Amino acid sequence: MANYQSINPYTNETFATYDHPTATQIEEALTLTHALYKKWRHEAVSERAQQLHQIADKLRSEKAEMAKIMTLEMGKLLKESEEEVLLCANICDWYADHGEALLAPTPLPSSLGNAYYLKQATGVVLACEPWNFPLYQVIRVFAPNFIVGNPIILKHAHNVPGSAKLTAQLIHRAGAPEGSLINLFLDYDQIAQVIADPRIQGVALTGSERGGASVAESAGKELKKSTMELGGNDPFLVLADADHDQLVKVLADARTYNMGQVCTSSKRIIVVKEKYDEVLSILKSVFSSLKPGDPLKATTTLAPMNSQGAKDKLQRQVDLGVANGAKIFYQYPKIDEKGAFFSPAILTDIAPDNPIFDDELFGPVAEVYKVEDDQAAIELANNSSYGLGSSVISSNHDHAAKVSAQIETGMTVINGRWITAPELPFGGVKKSGYGRELSQLGLYAFVNEHLVIDVTQK
Ligand code: NAP
Repeated sequence: MANYQSINPYTNETFATYDHPTATQIEEALTLTHALYKKWRHEAVSERAQQLHQIADKLRSEKAEMAKIMTLEMGKLLKESEEEVLLCANICDWYADHGEALLAPTPLPSSLGNAYYLKQATGVVLACEPWNFPLYQVIRVFAPNFIVGNPIILKHAHNVPGSAKLTAQLIHRAGAPEGSLINLFLDYDQIAQVIADPRIQGVALTGSERGGASVAESAGKELKKSTMELGGNDPFLVLADADHDQLVKVLADARTYNMGQVCTSSKRIIVVKEKYDEVLSILKSVFSSLKPGDPLKATTTLAPMNSQGAKDKLQRQVDLGVANGAKIFYQYPKIDEKGAFFSPAILTDIAPDNPIFDDELFGPVAEVYKVEDDQAAIELANNSSYGLGSSVISSNHDHAAKVSAQIETGMTVINGRWITAPELPFGGVKKSGYGRELSQLGLYAFVNEHLVIDVTQK
């Protein structure tokens, strides 16, 4: 893609377009960020921690402006955009509060001498980010690297350029030094050129397998460290002892938050036979009570998808699934709006040989599976190319913990849907990628664990 345009998916109208940077602008960005990396090497972490608190404050004070552009560009409910801005402020505060201690040298008991390792910055990191959480995806990479001392060059998704631009402006307006984060509207060839530049020392991508494979290939060719946060087909296991009220609470938005466009959204709802009808009935009640409309309005609960193209792709996937034996248990009536609205649907009877069985359906479609028992639920959950998140719903904690340990995903939430917080690591296994963001694991993603040993001190 990389044709940067702001198109409001509620109206399908284009309201801004942006040009790719010139070679000179790219060179300036690399020079500035690299110079800042060199400067930061001599500065105390505490100074950046102070600046990161200021960035958190700025995000809170400019919440309305940031939330509005995100909703205008990718259609999410304004309330969800506002929650996202506040979450990002908390992420900044968390790294500002904990970063310095987490970066302290780690002693290494050794008979060879006094040994320890430092955790040092490595250089400029290129962040390639998706549109689904326009601010959060950026802050997940920016905040820890800011504390470490790695400046960021941001290549955001083609459909959220205004959000990318405002993010960079807010960071700057908060008092962060020039070059802390530079936003460039790069095309794909320019991404490869930037990755090849020796001043770039790391590449972080959140997005699809397609984007991940391409950027990881460029990074691998240049021997640059990378983290890949990719797609998911998250299983949501409902066990026989699941509590009804808990199920109602969790299913209320497990598949519709952000219009289902969450990597860790509960896409495959795997239910033991005793609970199958109950789960279908709860989901139907949730889906049928949604209210479509302008995502900027507080009364709207059914937002458009992020683009007409995304809506059309989801429709093709549903049609393919149905043509191969899946059944539509329920679908929301046709929505009389001109934007990229998809009527939320509940699919059942998806056999393993259905071509959509192993696909990520990135929108408001719940795929519900009926299984005999826990073992069958675990096997189905693990029968996926993906391994990002999962949920286990059970009123017996030991039961839930035992099942959770057998699921091949990077994250499992017991009695809840997907979750994210600054202190919790985020990431997956299999085709969901590698590396972790957030928590101390995210802080160390692009750190040089620099061994120092004094052999005269034993
Ligand atoms: P995407 O197409 O892979 O885009 C992600 C970023 O990579 C964008 O900036 C995109 O730029 C760029 N990109 C895509 N193809 C590229 C290529 N061949 N060369 C260089 N750059 C490329 O992802 P998406 O479909 O927009 O985002 C949704 C996906 O992200 C879903 O699969 C979702 O599950 C996943 N996701 C994962 C996580 C996680 O933490 N694991 C979180 C959120 C979303 P353009 O926009 O210009 O194409």
